[in-house]
Amino acid sequence: MASNMPATRDLLETPVQPTDAAVTVQGERFRRYLSAERIKKRVAEMGKTIARDYATTTPILVSVLNGAFMYTADLMRAIDTDCEIDFIKLSSYGDEKVSSGEVRELKSVDAELEGRDVLVVEDIVDTGLSMEFMKRRLAEYNPASLRVSTLLHKPTATEPDLTLDYVGFRIPDLFVIGYGLDYGQLARNLSDIYILDEG
Ligand code: 5GP
Repeated sequence: MASNMPATRDLLETPVQPTDAAVTVQGERFRRYLSAERIKKRVAEMGKTIARDYATTTPILVSVLNGAFMYTADLMRAIDTDCEIDFIKLSSYGDEKVSSGEVRELKSVDAELEGRDVLVVEDIVDTGLSMEFMKRRLAEYNPASLRVSTLLHKPTATEPDLTLDYVGFRIPDLFVIGYGLDYGQLARNLSDIYILDEG
């Protein structure tokens, strides 16, 4: 073990999650915006609605890496009917807080989607470019149906024609982190969602 690693006892005594109302990541201050409790409640509601809507079929969830991994794990457990999972990875913001406007597919789905009921599971829709790209890309597989779910949506930033079937929370057009969402790859492990503090 590297000499600068803390002893196991110290690790156990360290709080797993910061409980503060604000966190600083890479020199930027973020304030707590959605608590883990609130997220849990909303994800449970979404799972119930999705289970009801797909009661007569076995949908395949297509989770968008990396940001949606935590939301996907919770959403899937909230769906109490048969469902499957696969993953897709698109190019993201990198280490920036604004979209580059360019979307590329970094990892495609492995499952056979033709004739399947596909539900995209995305963490956040900002400009909507990634979701538009994904809908077009997944439609090429000729699924029986294609719907999208996103935990967060910034409506004022999004192309108005984009249809989102299941939305967790509508939020202001500000950068958010936590619950799978990163800033320069950090902060994904926060249980709450934090929003950039402009004040
Ligand atoms: P869009 O294509 O809708 O502009 O952006 C989609 C992707 O950008 C999301 O999947 C996510 O990776 C990233 N993104 C957009 N807004 C935010 C944000 O507020 N915080 C973080 N961490 N990522 C974001």
